[in-house]
Amino acid sequence: MPKGSVTNKDFAEMGIAPGSDVREQNSTDYLKEASCSPLQNRHQKKQIPLKEGLFKLPSTPSERGYLIGSRCRTCGETFFPKRVYCANCTGKDLEEIALSTKGKIHTFTISREVPPGSIMQAPYAIVQVRLPEGALVTSVLTDCDLEALDIGTDAQLVIEKVMEDEEGNDIMAFKFSLIRKEVMP
Ligand SMILES: [Zn+2]
Repeated sequence: MPKGSVTNKDFAEMGIAPGSDVREQNSTDYLKEASCSPLQNRHQKKQIPLKEGLFKLPSTPSERGYLIGSRCRTCGETFFPKRVYCANCTGKDLEEIALSTKGKIHTFTISREVPPGSIMQAPYAIVQVRLPEGALVTSVLTDCDLEALDIGTDAQLVIEKVMEDEEGNDIMAFKFSLIRKEVMP
């Protein structure tokens, strides 16, 4: 893809950009916490979303978590990320919904360049996944299996650690992985 066609802002919206969206702990709070309980919390790793409001983290290892979307009660259109106004009918009566974790590749592009400061490694696939509710989600694939990737391929949500913050907490972002069909012998 041409250089500059995907900006760091785009990556921030996808939830995979480094840096600016990572919450920084207030240094005063940290000192206060440290003086009250010097060792108690030091080794307790937390999972922190890279960007708030996009997805629900899995609460147990067996869960997948889900993307948070919205559905218009007037026209039925669904969106991701969630919206205040409906982009279809401009109505304001939207409800927050848990979106399906599986969908189909609507379209994709392979990036062989990474924006400066990105946590991605080239080459990687930028995909749009159509979920059963109708919402179209822009994301990246966890791997770049060009043989398996095609329009219509089934894909599923993956919420995974992309980096650690200064306190050693896991910074989590969402991606998609391809669901490979079993090859019959
Ligand atoms: Zn609507």
